[in-house]
Amino acid sequence: MTTVITTPPLQFDGRALIDGKRIDAISGARFDCISPVDGRVLTQIARCAEADINAAVTCARAAFQDQRWSGLAPAQRKRIMIRFADLLLAHGDELAVTETLDMGKPVKYARAVDVSSAANCMRWYGEAVDKIYDEIAPTASTALALITREPMGVVGIIVPWNYPMIMASWKIAPALAVGNSVVLKPSEKSPLTALRMADLALEAGIPPGVFNVVTGFGPEAGSPLALHMDVDCIAFTGSTRVGKQIHVMAGQSNLKRAWTELGGKSPNIVFADCPDLGKAVEAAVGSIFFNQGESCNAPSRLYVEASIKEQFLEKALALVPDYAPGNPLDQATVMGAIVDQMQMNSVLRYIDIGKSEGAKLLAGGEQALRETGGCYVQPTIFDGVHNDMTIAREEIFGPVLSVLSFTDAADVVCQANQSVYGLQAAVWTRDLNKALGVARALRAGTVHVNQYDEDDITVPFGGFKQSGVGRDKSLHAFDKYTETKTTWIRIDSPV
Ligand code: NAD
Repeated sequence: MTTVITTPPLQFDGRALIDGKRIDAISGARFDCISPVDGRVLTQIARCAEADINAAVTCARAAFQDQRWSGLAPAQRKRIMIRFADLLLAHGDELAVTETLDMGKPVKYARAVDVSSAANCMRWYGEAVDKIYDEIAPTASTALALITREPMGVVGIIVPWNYPMIMASWKIAPALAVGNSVVLKPSEKSPLTALRMADLALEAGIPPGVFNVVTGFGPEAGSPLALHMDVDCIAFTGSTRVGKQIHVMAGQSNLKRAWTELGGKSPNIVFADCPDLGKAVEAAVGSIFFNQGESCNAPSRLYVEASIKEQFLEKALALVPDYAPGNPLDQATVMGAIVDQMQMNSVLRYIDIGKSEGAKLLAGGEQALRETGGCYVQPTIFDGVHNDMTIAREEIFGPVLSVLSFTDAADVVCQANQSVYGLQAAVWTRDLNKALGVARALRAGTVHVNQYDEDDITVPFGGFKQSGVGRDKSLHAFDKYTETKTTWIRIDSPV
């Protein structure tokens, strides 16, 4: 039975949020916010540009300077952030449906994963911030050296569209918890939940000017933020192409701290002695098709030991029909819409390249549900892929699995590491030595053993190589949004 979620008709406000007020872009320009579910225009979004970014940064700086937020005791900020988390949950249905309409993911995951993770992240950093202590260095007794952490000031945050609330929360939560002011630029493809989050932050008691949201396109609204001389830190999640530009812009301007969480092409390695082939197949298929394949850490390169490949693929193909795309507002749907026409065309182009370079199409390969007016692609599997093929090297960011094979551990480690990316990897084997040896040899920020998607706010997330610089999540994230200060105090002891 299908259950289509019905919320009261949602009214979307696409204006930016600066200094606690919803406002249009100074130029008055707007752009359409189009739903990939069915092609309808949801609302119009303020098309912010340099003047709007300047206004937002000025307000954020003023808020930081007068200490309306940075001057609160950590325990006070904690209480407000926990209230913010509670409000996210209280508005969970509204936020989930908004996310689904805006970027196409199934509403059941928007509610159970995106809203819950965003709220948990706010709560976790809020709860953590009054439990971390500064340090005193072990110097000679003639001096006292205090090592303290201070908020950086104004933090610019630029995020993508695949997990809009989660990606924003991973940065907003630690940045706000330690007392910074924030200017967030969500993706032009998914701006609606960021704006609602900022409304709810105000309602929770985060003072006006502390959490601002500027909407618009990357070159028009993102670049002025990354280039701004009064932004102290820029935290970016998105493509490796733009991530490189972010580091250049930080260097060209005021050498602001730049943190980048970028693309991936993660290898998932299954040895013939995998302890549970059924689980390995489910994880391989489920993880590449989750979120329509639009996950930076999707296991898009599947390496199966040659002796079990046929058996593995047979089981994998049997699962493909379970991932047929459907209406994302239907609670039963597990594969929704691709974020927009441009991304869908890019995915379909990669499928064509895969065919033309000689990979064997085993499943899918076509656009789906054309009659809806939305953007859907069939779950797609290619066999016979080689490491030098485009679909083994480039991030497709869609529901496309490339299957490769290998002969032994040395062969697969060499193939898996032949990538500019190093975000995530997995190895399936019942041999502990092989698991640990391969895990150590893989150049990736996270390696899973005999599972793929274990995840928790307590562990760092980020990549080696061109998958980025820095780590989101865990207590390590506080390092990104604080400066370390040493204060030397001379002690002339009277005794
Ligand atoms: P993108 O790089 O095109 O855009 C990301 C953000 O940057 C958007 O807000 C966009 O408006 C902005 N932007 C674009 N051009 C800009 C410019 N010149 N100056 C400043 N800002 C600019 O990426 P996308 O298509 O939105 O997202 C998909 C990418 O994000 C994939 O590569 C994916 O792997 C990556 N991603 C990485 C992680 C991670 O944690 N490593 C998580 C999610 C997504």
